[in-house]
Amino acid sequence: MLKLDFHPAGRHFLQIPGPSPVPDRILRAMSYPTIDHRGPEFGALGLQVLEGIKKIFKTAQPVVIYPASGTGAWEAALVNTLSAGDHVLMFETGHFATLWKKMAEALGLKTEFLGLPGIEGWRRGVQADMIEQRLRQDSGHEIKAVCVVHNETSTGVTSDIAAVRRAIDAAGHPALLLVDTISGLASADYRHDEWGVDVTVSGSQKGLMLPPGISFNAVSKKAIEASKTATLPKAFWNWAEIIEMNATGYWPYTPNTNLLYGLSEAIDMILGEGLDNTFARHQRLAHACRSAVKAWGLEIQCADPAVYSPVLTGVMTPPGVDADAIRKLIYDKFNMSLGTGLGKMKGKMFRIGHLGEANDLTLMATLAGCEMGLKLAGVPLAGSGVQAAMAELSASVAPDQLKAA
Ligand SMILES: *Cc1c(COP(=O)(O)O)cnc(C)c1O
Repeated sequence: MLKLDFHPAGRHFLQIPGPSPVPDRILRAMSYPTIDHRGPEFGALGLQVLEGIKKIFKTAQPVVIYPASGTGAWEAALVNTLSAGDHVLMFETGHFATLWKKMAEALGLKTEFLGLPGIEGWRRGVQADMIEQRLRQDSGHEIKAVCVVHNETSTGVTSDIAAVRRAIDAAGHPALLLVDTISGLASADYRHDEWGVDVTVSGSQKGLMLPPGISFNAVSKKAIEASKTATLPKAFWNWAEIIEMNATGYWPYTPNTNLLYGLSEAIDMILGEGLDNTFARHQRLAHACRSAVKAWGLEIQCADPAVYSPVLTGVMTPPGVDADAIRKLIYDKFNMSLGTGLGKMKGKMFRIGHLGEANDLTLMATLAGCEMGLKLAGVPLAGSGVQAAMAELSASVAPDQLKAA
């Protein structure tokens, strides 16, 4: 039997930008007994979650649900729409964009990585004008897909996807638009149909508040058409068989039954709060978090206020201060996990998650843990971030308080 002998009093503060804390309602829903995935009850559950999840993606098209992590759904987006040697244009926003590019290469695609030079690219969003310019040069339409990350979880930058769509249209280019919103969905505004996205990739363990283990491809009619002639090898990831069986609420293989109970509960919770209220809650908490970082006198990783992430805040540590040592101290002393700096930012920043089931007091506790840890580590602070965030939050009304009033 698994023995976890680390049991400090109180709850662990899981403040990494995914997995995010799983609400008790969802944990309880997941504890129902596993049922026959070919039986009548399951079909009803299947239809319910397949219909409900469309509302979260804001799409009228099918959403494919895989029993896999987000990385699996990345692969599914590529192998269903592309053929060996196809040219794909990707944009470097951070570590996750870089990993998706590596995967595309491993699958035999020809990748091109656009981006701003050096660390600049990891501090700003997708530059739609650079994409437009590149597509205009491609008069032979060699580029088959444009791939971008909506919420770059490694940095805390949320790119403007509608602007990328406009750039593709302005260039009159037929490339597909593939978007990773693994960490953005259900925390940051997202509109699959309205923004003309062909494949949206997402996952369960971030804004959807579920444990890791399921992931998604929302598709467009154009993506389905492309999948009929795409020749990259695909079997498990093949949309066609899954979408066909989904019509009656079933899957071609054993789906992740208990996570689907959780998904059904998560959809109820999010639609119950209302997507607009959910987004407003995240914006408000993110704003308060940034006031704290500014009061500390530390730098926010995202250098463009227009693309600040509502999901997480990246905090850069002063030169010579090891961000991972501070994270370790906070973990040991206060039983709180913060996100590590990834790739180019290793040791230079930490990430505060404020996604999913976050509220005023979970944010305040998180910021208190950060402030105590920074002080203990001897990092000179300009002032109290906790005070600044408290002032912000107490002066503004939470969206659900508005609803109750
Ligand atoms: C978490 C994440 C991934 C990877 O998802 P896994 O579930 O870990 O496979 C990819 N892209 C982004 C933007 C993410 O936040």
